[in-house]
Amino acid sequence: MSETFDYVVIGGGSAGSVLGNRLSEDGKRSVLILEAGRSDYPWDLLIQMPAALPFPAGKSLYDWKYESDPEPYMNGRRIKHARGKVLGGSSSINGMIYQRGNPLDYERWGADEGMETWNFAHVLPYFKRLENALAADPDDEYRGHDGPIKLERGPAKNPLFQAFFDSAVEAGYNRTPDVNGYRQEGFGPFDKHIYKGRRFSASRAYLDPVKSRQNLTIRTRAFVESIDFDGTRANGVTYRRNGKTHQVKAGEVVLAGGAINTPQLLQLSGVGDAEHLQSLGIKPVVNLPGVGENLQDHLEAYIQYSCPKPVSEQPSLNKLRMPWIGLQWLLGRKGPAATNHFEGGGFIRSNEDVDYPNLMYHFLPVAVRYDGQKADTKHGFQVHVGPMYSDARGSLKIRSKDPREHPSMIYNYLSTEQDRREWIEAVKITREIMSQPAMAPYNSGEISPGSSFQTDEEILEWVKNDAETALHPSCTAKMGPESDPMSVVDPKTMKVHGLDNVRVVDASAMPYVTNGNIHAPVLMLAEKAADLILGKDPLKPENVDYYRHGVDQAEAGIVTS
Ligand SMILES: Cc1cc2nc3c(=O)[nH]c(=O)nc-3n(C[C@H](O)[C@H](O)[C@H](O)COP(=O)(O)OP(=O)(O)OC[C@H]3O[C@@H](n4cnc5c(N)ncnc54)[C@H](O)[C@@H]3O)c2cc1C
Repeated sequence: MSETFDYVVIGGGSAGSVLGNRLSEDGKRSVLILEAGRSDYPWDLLIQMPAALPFPAGKSLYDWKYESDPEPYMNGRRIKHARGKVLGGSSSINGMIYQRGNPLDYERWGADEGMETWNFAHVLPYFKRLENALAADPDDEYRGHDGPIKLERGPAKNPLFQAFFDSAVEAGYNRTPDVNGYRQEGFGPFDKHIYKGRRFSASRAYLDPVKSRQNLTIRTRAFVESIDFDGTRANGVTYRRNGKTHQVKAGEVVLAGGAINTPQLLQLSGVGDAEHLQSLGIKPVVNLPGVGENLQDHLEAYIQYSCPKPVSEQPSLNKLRMPWIGLQWLLGRKGPAATNHFEGGGFIRSNEDVDYPNLMYHFLPVAVRYDGQKADTKHGFQVHVGPMYSDARGSLKIRSKDPREHPSMIYNYLSTEQDRREWIEAVKITREIMSQPAMAPYNSGEISPGSSFQTDEEILEWVKNDAETALHPSCTAKMGPESDPMSVVDPKTMKVHGLDNVRVVDASAMPYVTNGNIHAPVLMLAEKAADLILGKDPLKPENVDYYRHGVDQAEAGIVTS
């Protein structure tokens, strides 16, 4: 006899952790989380130690190791896509940068037909419910103060941060006290989901405190292969664990496997473009051509500089120093290993055609690529930059009936005029900021791309060959009304169109990627979705003012030094 649960949640990642907690909160419903990866053990240094963040990506023990097809506008390069394969999902291996996105991102969501309840006023209370913004003023009405996700800010004390912020001001941009508060646009310290020197992942925030609940079961190393249907009603799911196939019955199935696995699993289970499914010998349950389409992401590049002063964190990359740095962390959660080093950055508009920031900067007081490859310099630093709401769209399709075969994915980075224009602007503006007087004592030359890349064509060529994903795939099962043939998920219930009891709650359900890192928006989406699933009254919308360039508030909220 197979077991039965009220809710079977597929994936114990960022969204799955929120759901596990909220759906089991009142003790009335049984919840099973099936997570393909292993547990995020507290002794696993590569997860827990913030500065170890480059190590899990690319390792099968932590990462699904996806790859795009040859990208047609990137000289045919395949782009590597890391995804967390462990409890906590990508939040257990990510960069720990916390960005809500701009309020106008949600106004854009809410402007689409049927999406009114996802505008900024409606999502703000859920951001506040999830966060405990430790650096914020307790009276700050924009921030949450007692939610499960603890957030530290900055501190951005390395003198390179101050020089970067000052240079941005000298170049004509502004500072802002809190990019997640009243005003996103500007430069300043960033929030991070790190608490007392340790990664504060979604599983640590939402699952660790409630693991003993009788009605919550978490199964790791449980790989879901299909959703089992009786007509348009899901009975349960089939999964592999310890070399055996298991079936479990479900009142409801909630997909939370992330923007790559969720559309993959829907297609494997017969939910997707009927013609494509039939061509692979899969019987369609419902014809939903939007499954796997509308794929969005952020592409980013590292602009690196060498530094004549001995102030950067470059020496921390020296293998001989690592044991001492590790020891400092083990003994007191202190030292260079206790932070993600992405302690500050900024948001700007690169041209007058955009209403709100279209470029994000992360400043890093060290010159090193995400995979740990360091620049050849004694001291150095870099910025990560890239367009935040590119109009390029990609798609994802399974190649066969085999659930273990990675799907075909194409992102079409740089495929549009807007995208290419913003990339050229991004590199030129970065150079302008870095050549200001405040940066002069610290900047002894651009390492990458370097002086040979000057014309628009040269800059684009460098981007094609050098840029990487910022790891924000999303929007592959977008929310929208049933009247939109490309929408997949009903915004009021999170149910998949045409199915009785299957819902999607993860980065796939976003209609548009937001203009920042997307872990926080995914947590918000899951918090709100949990209320919708439980049929609770949603939190009351909060109509607060927020900074909009050129509109009524003019220059309010600016801090110039
Ligand atoms: C290396 C890296 C760095 C990043 N840095 C940042 C950052 O600094 N800040 C930020 O905001 N965002 C960052 N992101 C992005 C962010 O972490 C993700 O967008 C977000 O966590 C996605 O949440 P999710 O719930 O949609 O999916 P995930 O958190 O990826 O969760 C999906 C879960 O489902 C499981 N799963 C998948 N398929 C199955 C299956 N068939 N059966 C069972 N389980 C399954 C997976 O193992 C995983 O645990 C980063 C991502 C990566 C990979």
